[in-house]
Amino acid sequence: MTKIKNINGTSRFSAPKGYSSWLEYWEKQTKKKQSICGASGCSSNDLVGAHVQKANSTDKNYYITPLCRSCNQRTDEFDTHWELVPVPSNL
Ligand SMILES: [Zn+2]
Repeated sequence: MTKIKNINGTSRFSAPKGYSSWLEYWEKQTKKKQSICGASGCSSNDLVGAHVQKANSTDKNYYITPLCRSCNQRTDEFDTHWELVPVPSNL
């Protein structure tokens, strides 16, 4: 598991060209499809491709990972089961 935190104000970032959503971007990059939220202890299925950063890390890059809409609003740090896919640097 990876400890993450949400990044505020990322709804202005539209999905990369050729993808209908950030969730689709994550699915294509990982070749996986998740049906439930990655947050530890959460099993909601209204997923979005959330913009997150690693918590307690010198790595300040932005990543995409599947979270439910509710967990996408969390302001604390929490663990996720799913992989983090780097946001393309050309945005
Ligand atoms: Zn959740």
